[in-house]
Amino acid sequence: MHPELAADLGRLPEILEETRQHALAFLAGLDERPVVERAGPPAVAPLTEEGGGTRAALAEFAERWEPRLSASAGPRYFGFVTGGATPAALAGDWLTSAVDQNSNSSLDPAGQQLERETVGWLGELFGLSAAHRGTFVSGATMSNTVGLAIAREWLGERLGVDVAEDGVGALGPVRVLSGSAHSSVAKALSVLGLGRTALRTVPVMPGREAVDVAALERALAEAPGPCVVVANAGTVNTVDFDDLRAIAALRERYGFWLHVDAAFGAFAALSPEHAELVAGLDLADSVCVDLHKWLNVPYDSAVQFTRRPDLQARVFQNAAAYLGPLSEHPDLVHLTPENSHRLRALAAWFTLRAYGRAGHREIVERCVAGARALGAEVARIDGLELLAPVRLNVVCFSLTADPTPERLAALAAELADEAFLTPTRYAGRPALRAAFSNWRTTGADVRRTAEALDRAVRKLTA
Ligand SMILES: *Cc1c(COP(=O)(O)O)cnc(C)c1O
Repeated sequence: MHPELAADLGRLPEILEETRQHALAFLAGLDERPVVERAGPPAVAPLTEEGGGTRAALAEFAERWEPRLSASAGPRYFGFVTGGATPAALAGDWLTSAVDQNSNSSLDPAGQQLERETVGWLGELFGLSAAHRGTFVSGATMSNTVGLAIAREWLGERLGVDVAEDGVGALGPVRVLSGSAHSSVAKALSVLGLGRTALRTVPVMPGREAVDVAALERALAEAPGPCVVVANAGTVNTVDFDDLRAIAALRERYGFWLHVDAAFGAFAALSPEHAELVAGLDLADSVCVDLHKWLNVPYDSAVQFTRRPDLQARVFQNAAAYLGPLSEHPDLVHLTPENSHRLRALAAWFTLRAYGRAGHREIVERCVAGARALGAEVARIDGLELLAPVRLNVVCFSLTADPTPERLAALAAELADEAFLTPTRYAGRPALRAAFSNWRTTGADVRRTAEALDRAVRKLTA
């Protein structure tokens, strides 16, 4: 054994203890460090022939890289849709690395059994029936990709061709209809060989991001063959929701595959006041839910649900004599793009066990309350205007006068020590959005952000 490896093995308890202390110091400083550090990268360090052991690596990380990291785990990182990590999720994630399982086969079954238990709880949390089976993937992009891969196989079934065997060329042109599809849907269509132009945007309702169901019906009626519909449950700009029940009802007349991108919107199901927004989610043929957003588990984690695990196995089966069998409950190796994967479910398992449905409901409801409070502040601040009502956990707003991307970027930069917001364009207008999905965010953070916004707008318009 290399002497540094042998030495590290000998002092493993001390190394882990120092790492733990380092992690605690980072977390304790979350509130104080700039939310986003915009320093450039450090000078590139060469690969060395000899290393210095874990302690030296930790010291170098602490000096060169850690100061540059954002407080994305903290309470005022409102960019994109970003969750933190609950204490239990963090504990579960640490253990995931410690136990280092490859949880994909019944030949070594505990990992995938734990994953199935966790997926079962998640399905219940989101109101899905037992007809939905789920698998863990690395994020909502991958969840959308897997859902659309199953949809592609379903189209083949409808047209009497086998896409998994004969390729996507056997299908002919495909139509994927959506009102306000997330950008990852186009990416998924590119990956799947269906092509980005397969995505046809269907008109939305006036002043909304939710699809106009009558327009969707017309698009279905005009389509030359079976389609895929991507319904949106929580759009990133204004958290709008398609009417899932009305869309699902169209399936009787126009057979189509219904994929629902509920990356973070699915969490509305946890709050009785908002559960109606995702009513009908169970009717979907496939569902995407992100976990590293509103469940607050560390990156990277999402789940993909489907009513057709048989088609999923047709797409993803990995036939090899030394892997597990393709049975009624196929091993996970046969269900996702990865073959090997970490015991990704453990962080979710921990947080659901530690806080239960009520604990996670409280996170969701506190985030919604925070977004509403910030929305009210934005409406009050001179020089800012809300572009949409705060439906759930995102505040979408712009400058009243001269809302150019440059001025909005300047506003965001002015705020960056206190809060991180990301740019967007809504209804043709450059805008900023603040998304609430971190378990640490409190009313004090909303006040701090509103005060910083107020100061930044005054400075910009002075
Ligand atoms: C975040 C998001 C995605 C993509 O998620 P990743 O985890 O970044 O892959 C897809 N759809 C919606 C609605 C999202 O909010």
